[in-house]
Amino acid sequence: MDSEGALMEAAKVLLAIADADAAILRAEKRLEALPEKQEILSLRHKMREVEALLGKAETYVADAERLIKANEDEAALLDEKMEVEQAKILSGDVTNPKELQNLSRELDSLRRRRDKLDNQTMGFMEKLENGQAQAEKVRDALTKLAAREARLVEEFKHAGGELTGEIATLKRKRTTLLKELDAELTARYEEALATKHGVAVGALRDGVCSACRMALPAERVQALLAGPAVAICPTCHRLLVVRDGKDA
Ligand SMILES: [Zn+2]
Repeated sequence: MDSEGALMEAAKVLLAIADADAAILRAEKRLEALPEKQEILSLRHKMREVEALLGKAETYVADAERLIKANEDEAALLDEKMEVEQAKILSGDVTNPKELQNLSRELDSLRRRRDKLDNQTMGFMEKLENGQAQAEKVRDALTKLAAREARLVEEFKHAGGELTGEIATLKRKRTTLLKELDAELTARYEEALATKHGVAVGALRDGVCSACRMALPAERVQALLAGPAVAICPTCHRLLVVRDGKDA
């Protein structure tokens, strides 16, 4: 096959791929517009909000636990100290009344600190329980939302089954077609597809690019017709099929 013949073949393939991509786009839009899909999206949005709440509740719980642990550690130290002081007093080794009085004062001060700690810890416990209850509630809500999401996804699969199948078939078709193009055309096609709103190829029909629908000046049309089967549209810069051999 000469190079013009090869390009004409490529032109046909390009138009077929463009048709498949347009059909994929339409099917995907129909799929997106299914009410189940919309509901899933808003449900997922809600789930992210609830997850953020759970994060907050968990932080709250962790904070309370840390405070309680710190108080418990300090309480254990105080208990040890009090035991030591108590033992000193009870040992009979300390006989100096002044010294005994100091020890007993020290013991009282430790006891007061210990009581204060206990009160504080009770407050933290309350905080912990509130946080745990809140986290529990949020986890329940999340479980329910996740179950609802799973149900909706099933419904969506059912409702969109035909469309999903259609899209898969079209995608397989486009993959097969793309293999017939050389690497350069493939790259140009994919780039145009990504940058030109899903329409990568136009066909020159009666001096008009079918993609941008612009009528090209007569001398441009002449130049294009005299050139290769596949060119670039001077207006929209998409690939432009000048000839695909159909009406030649
Ligand atoms: Zn164009």
